[in-house]
Amino acid sequence: MSGAVSTDDLVAWIRAFRDAVREHRDDLTALDSAIGDADHGSNMARGLDAVVAKLETTPASAPDLFKTVGMTLVSSVGGASGPLYGTFFLRMGPPLSDSVDAASLGAALRAGVDGVVARGKAEPGDKTMIDAQLPAVAAWDDAVDGGADAADAATAAAEAAARGRDATEPLVARKGRASYLGERSAGHIDPGAASSALLFQALSDTLAARR
Ligand code: ADP
Ligand code: MG
Repeated sequence: MSGAVSTDDLVAWIRAFRDAVREHRDDLTALDSAIGDADHGSNMARGLDAVVAKLETTPASAPDLFKTVGMTLVSSVGGASGPLYGTFFLRMGPPLSDSVDAASLGAALRAGVDGVVARGKAEPGDKTMIDAQLPAVAAWDDAVDGGADAADAATAAAEAAARGRDATEPLVARKGRASYLGERSAGHIDPGAASSALLFQALSDTLAARR
């Protein structure tokens, strides 16, 4: 198998993310009920169902795919996570061209996370989704520098995202709804970091399955 990642692979990733969010919807909502308003699972599931409905028509290219995903999330998910995940995907498209490989997909993921940071103005350690996303893209880049293909880079990224998710537990939230709780936000995993770990795990699973 060549190192290329097809548009079909990327569509499969988005579907796998939707499936994972559905499977974990109640867990995500339980995390958000501890430090937010108990809607992260339903927000994400609703948005991703709308995305998958749009994907009945196969997108012509990776940039088209991510534009559709991003615009659909922005318009169908209320709350903080809709615009943030929407921005993530909207920023992923432009760096990509027709042929996607480990390096270009890494650059697109990096652009996506940079978009979340620009939009949400969170810093690492603020107990947000970027605490899973930033380590994930760093691990991706390290893996590619070491010669990894996209599937291996995605595995490294998924492991880093999961560690980043777990590391949000002791943190005090400084952004988003959870920050209203102050010190009481400590002791719970951030829901957006948990859904972001699912995002990278879905990519890893999808790219591993096509080997
Ligand atoms: P809401 O907080 O509006 O109810 P969700 O529950 O769907 O929206 O999403 C909450 C998640 O959004 C948080 O767990 C956190 O990861 C993320 N989040 C909130 N504000 C920010 C921000 N400014 N920057 C990055 N992520 C944020
Ligand atoms: Mg919420």
